[in-house]
Amino acid sequence: MIPAAFEYHAPTSIIEASALLARLGEDAKILSGGQSLIPLMKLRLANPHHLVDINGIPGLSFIREAEGFLRIGALTRESDLEESELIRTRYPLIHDTSQVIADPVVRNLATIGGNLAHADPANDHPAAMLAAGAEIVAAGRGGERRLPIESFFTGPFATALKADEILTEIRVPVPTARSAGAYLKVERKVGDFATAAVAVQITLAANDLCSRIGIGLTNVGLTPIKAGKAEGALRGQRLDDKAIKEAARLAADAAQPAADLRGPVEYKKDLVRVLTVRALHRALERAARAR
Ligand SMILES: Cc1cc2nc3c(=O)[nH]c(=O)nc-3n(C[C@H](O)[C@H](O)[C@H](O)COP(=O)(O)OP(=O)(O)OC[C@H]3O[C@@H](n4cnc5c(N)ncnc54)[C@H](O)[C@@H]3O)c2cc1C
Repeated sequence: MIPAAFEYHAPTSIIEASALLARLGEDAKILSGGQSLIPLMKLRLANPHHLVDINGIPGLSFIREAEGFLRIGALTRESDLEESELIRTRYPLIHDTSQVIADPVVRNLATIGGNLAHADPANDHPAAMLAAGAEIVAAGRGGERRLPIESFFTGPFATALKADEILTEIRVPVPTARSAGAYLKVERKVGDFATAAVAVQITLAANDLCSRIGIGLTNVGLTPIKAGKAEGALRGQRLDDKAIKEAARLAADAAQPAADLRGPVEYKKDLVRVLTVRALHRALERAARAR
């Protein structure tokens, strides 16, 4: 299938791109990896008259630790995350996530910035970033601003980005000792979106109590869900079987899935319960080893 005609723009700076976005308004869309936008255009579900391709803007693809954060440039491809030694050894939650997104061909093009900005509740990075307590960096004509991830997703396929803003960077707090995460996803077949998935990030204090906890849920609501009550039940507690079981029950309660080809509501909620238990156990094992 062929998309409707559009005009192609290739800015070489953020300033140029945001000026274009401001001038073209709702008629324009940013193009990153094109792995969500182009299929939608081919299906004529999106018909932007202008594409603002940001791939020619230098300095938007990087993975590094600086100023207390893991900083990931918006144009970083999923395959870069998957292959990064830093991500594999220090950020298992993000590594798990990048490995289960789509298939290797899609991952060579798809960007982390596009994955978050698209705000598809079925996308995997949003829940992982909710669990990790990330910040989004956005740049536009008004300069740069940092948004907490909790306030970034405002609805299905909707974010707090302004019309002239570009998501430029994702910042994840550098883990302290005995911190780790895990992302577990059930999909009908390899490459599919999640039937349900659960992201967990924990920190254990010296006395083995849980000093920090983040839990995010994928594709069980209109937006990615932060399972706040489940987190509250674990914060300051020993992560024993009883506490984990109760948190998993609360996470399943927080899920608001719709019945579809991937399964009925009860099945998806129970999947969240089971995946929460398993993700917490995996994160615990990893945190006990993490320096
Ligand atoms: C077959 C297939 C299977 C897939 N399976 C999965 C999966 O299992 N899990 C998953 O998470 N994803 C999956 N995806 C989606 C894929 O990961 C997408 O590429 C990703 O969600 C969007 O990233 P992109 O760089 O391709 O963005 P694009 O398609 O280029 O853009 C997507 C949207 O985000 C906007 N946008 C892009 N970059 C920015 C930016 N920097 N600032 C502001 N707005 C921006 C665009 O204007 C557009 O509206 C799949 C895709 C395909 C084709």
